Amino acid sequence: MSEIEHVSANDLELSRSRTLARLICSHHVYHAAEAFQDRSITYCASRRVSQRSWSNIRNCFAYPGGTSDNMARLNALSAVFLLLPAAMCMDMALTNTRNGHGLIGYGINMYKPNCAFACRAAISSCTLDCSTMMEMEGMAMSMDDMMMETSAECYATDNAFLQTMAYCISQKCEGLRKWELEKYWKDNIPGTSAVQPDPKWTYQESLDKIRSAPNETVAGGDPLNQTMLVSEDDWLAIWNAQDSFEEAEGKHGKYSIIVIVTCFALPIALSFLRFVPLPNTLVTQFNAWVIDPPLWGTKQKQPLAGGLGLMPTRGQALFIGYILLINVVLSSVGYRSSQPNAWYPGSVRNEIITLVANRVGALSFANLPLLILYSSRNNILFWVTDWSHSTFLLLHRWVGGIATIQAILHSIIYLQLRIEAHTHAEESKLPYWIWGIVGTLSMSLLLPSSVLYIRHKAYELFLAWHVALSILTIVGCYYHILFRFAHQWGYEMWIWAAMAVWGFDRVLRMLRMAKNGLRSAVVTKVDDDYVRVDVPDVAATGHAYLYFPTLTWQFWENHPFSVASTATPQFVRKSKSLRDEESGSSKKDELKISTAAASSDSSTHGPAKLGLTFFLRRQGGLTQQLVSRDSLPVFVESSYGTHVDTSRFPHLVCIAGGIGITAVLPYLRSHPGSSKLYWGVRSAGIVHAIDDELLKNVDKEVFVGSRMNIREVLQEEAAYAGEGGVTILVSGPGGMADEARIVVSEIGRQGKVNMRLVDEAFSW
Ligand SMILES: Cc1cc2nc3c(=O)[nH]c(=O)nc-3n(C[C@H](O)[C@H](O)[C@H](O)COP(=O)(O)OP(=O)(O)OC[C@H]3O[C@@H](n4cnc5c(N)ncnc54)[C@H](O)[C@@H]3O)c2cc1C
Repeated sequence: MSEIEHVSANDLELSRSRTLARLICSHHVYHAAEAFQDRSITYCASRRVSQRSWSNIRNCFAYPGGTSDNMARLNALSAVFLLLPAAMCMDMALTNTRNGHGLIGYGINMYKPNCAFACRAAISSCTLDCSTMMEMEGMAMSMDDMMMETSAECYATDNAFLQTMAYCISQKCEGLRKWELEKYWKDNIPGTSAVQPDPKWTYQESLDKIRSAPNETVAGGDPLNQTMLVSEDDWLAIWNAQDSFEEAEGKHGKYSIIVIVTCFALPIALSFLRFVPLPNTLVTQFNAWVIDPPLWGTKQKQPLAGGLGLMPTRGQALFIGYILLINVVLSSVGYRSSQPNAWYPGSVRNEIITLVANRVGALSFANLPLLILYSSRNNILFWVTDWSHSTFLLLHRWVGGIATIQAILHSIIYLQLRIEAHTHAEESKLPYWIWGIVGTLSMSLLLPSSVLYIRHKAYELFLAWHVALSILTIVGCYYHILFRFAHQWGYEMWIWAAMAVWGFDRVLRMLRMAKNGLRSAVVTKVDDDYVRVDVPDVAATGHAYLYFPTLTWQFWENHPFSVASTATPQFVRKSKSLRDEESGSSKKDELKISTAAASSDSSTHGPAKLGLTFFLRRQGGLTQQLVSRDSLPVFVESSYGTHVDTSRFPHLVCIAGGIGITAVLPYLRSHPGSSKLYWGVRSAGIVHAIDDELLKNVDKEVFVGSRMNIREVLQEEAAYAGEGGVTILVSGPGGMADEARIVVSEIGRQGKVNMRLVDEAFSW
């Protein structure tokens, strides 16, 4: 291969330079690694690197300090899931890179001062007196393929190199202050490794030693044994390349920050609007037109297109629209070509599409912490916004889709570039490439395997697969960067941020669980469809995640259930556990339940340390297995969910379907004004179980085995509420929630009654 395409800063460092080829791939791998990390070795006009040499260069570079096979094996093993931190330490020990802290343009500079970096890049590939011939292990080479190595010590002490550099800098870097030049000199003349010798002379000393102005010009790859002029063309082409590349990299960082900051801050800012004392009529109209209705059609909680997904509400769609827009716009703007360009000589197309590939790659990375944040149970955004968990999960899916498309675009563009440059065969063997494929592929598999249909049909399987692939994505992305750039350019910051968000959630989950300790749950059969679970000595509000570690081998399995009551056992209630019933035993399980405590709502009076009651509807998994037990160990991870303030309007109407009643109970207990419950339920068992204890003083209409007419109910209640206004809280199956949403929006739009809709979903 006679020419090797430039596709990135680091490719550049490897290409177009026979001398660089001499540098890399020696048994002095240390210096080879150094050479790669030497950002100033960028351009050399010389001309030919054989395919075989190229392959060896790439392989040697890719595994500084070890043979490729061993390293690949070692890293594949060590990276397997949670051994990542150990593997990271190992990798850090193997590289001699100067670690960057921050992002390019934000704490990390690539080529500043560019004038000096360009000088060095133009001559660093020249053969110096102290350069040495390299033996290539395992390579039968002709003389033409022999390689020269120039060590950091050599650069630091070679008179011709130092003086040529000093002269070039004095000519090109006018306007820079002395200390800036000296700093550049000390840090970068020998190379850009973390550990390297100091130059034997300062910049000023080197300049002072030049007796007369040079008049001969040197080109990269040529011998350099006296003070010479740097080729103007070479210098300019390198300067352009470095300048536009660093500018573009700075934009990648800036746009990434814009995406993550706005997608974090906007929900907070928009939520804070609820504290603005706007007229109720205006708020009702706004919600009825702009926020509450489904974006399209009448379905929002019911699956679309055979379970592909859910239709967002208009409010959700607006924010999803923003996320889409900001990602598309910031992937598309701010590109600049700078020719003549040493890295992309004459190819504006390659120059720009490389920048696009890098941009979408960077944005994809920036989206990772965001998408994990949106999916977390312990999510700062829950605590400061009034957006629901199901809204954030919806955003999680959209951001996941966007990040995946960006990763795919990044991969496809680089694949195409490599194919066009005929380097794909070699490139695709490199670990950074392989890990990149792992990352992109894992993300791509996550998308179809997360559709609503699968989540509904096999939630636990979906979850396990989702977590495994997510970890693989993070590991893949991390190693992609590590093998490509080590820790120089800060891209791994986004991966660290993603891991931090994930770790924060997991640690808090454990703390919430540990706070309550291991308890013994009492399971009581209510009827064929429902069971009641009582957990003594735990206080919680909203909903909690219950773990039954002895129920199945999947001891980590946990499910959310609404706290129906924080009741303390006080009076004797006779009931039969399912097991008693099944065994025909006449043993009675005596439970004490306090009706007084049932009316004490912890969200308004502080948590009463009494005990928790849950009502569970039998489904096909854990809730099904639970009915065969009457008492078993339980971990309670609590408390979750926000108790929406219903006090804006004096009247509260709760529309509950089946087990959805559990989510409305706290509202019925805490609402300061009048309230009415409409509860549709299939069988009477659950009505007795709940009604007797928890709904005694509640104004209610219960529909057993028949459907309530939601439209009629809501119209009546709206008329009753009149000017004061009414909050409609709905908690039930998708169809019920959707109908209530549509009717509330319709009534709201008529502008006669002030209304607010609260949807307490049991599905996400
Ligand atoms: C905030 C919230 C509060 C809830 N409160 C109650 C309650 O008080 N009483 C009650 O009976 N049900 C409640 N649910 C629903 C309850 O979590 C599911 O019915 C239960 O997880 C089903 O478990 P399973 O293994 O038997 O279900 P499966 O038969 O495996 O699945 C049945 C359905 O439950 C969904 N599901 C399964 N596991 C989960 C999970 N970990 N998180 C969310 N959805 C899941 C599935 O997608 C599927 O649609 C609540 C759900 C949420 C999100």
